[in-house]
Amino acid sequence: MSDPIDRDGLAPRYWERKPLAKMSQREWEALCDGCGKCCLNKLEDEDSGTVALTRIACRLLDDSTCRCAHYENRHQFVPDCIVLKPDNLDTHAYWMPATCAYRLLWEGKPLYDWHPLISGTAQSVHDAGVSVQGWTLSEFDVPEDDWEEHVIEEPV
Ligand code: SF4
Ligand code: SF4
Repeated sequence: MSDPIDRDGLAPRYWERKPLAKMSQREWEALCDGCGKCCLNKLEDEDSGTVALTRIACRLLDDSTCRCAHYENRHQFVPDCIVLKPDNLDTHAYWMPATCAYRLLWEGKPLYDWHPLISGTAQSVHDAGVSVQGWTLSEFDVPEDDWEEHVIEEPV
């Protein structure tokens, strides 16, 4: 499967030397490993603040590629899709997947060897079993009242 993210020509291991806030847009986008887990719907307990992940995916997620079907103009269809930036990571890190490169770097942790920036191929994310490939259900097909029946453990 080809990698839709342009990772060519980036400095080797730039994420280990450059703070998130100093990255170019291209460097920032290249951090996304394409796992698709942030596009799963979550259930948040307002009292405890705990977040449960479900297998119910956003309507725009293509779970064969684990990519957004309309990334550039996604807000026309999903107005509340988050635009992650260095200055809002603080707000969002708590619900982001444990293996997400943005969260890992924000926590001062290294990227995994299966990250495309290290492995050189987007396929390694699927081979490592950390993507949502092939096991999601669309939010079109499952009423929101039933999402609780589809809570899952994050694949890590
Ligand atoms: S969880 Fe992080 S690494 Fe995975 S698709 Fe979302 S932004 Fe990219
Ligand atoms: S709109 Fe696209 S990027 Fe946003 S949650 Fe849905 S599939 Fe993911």
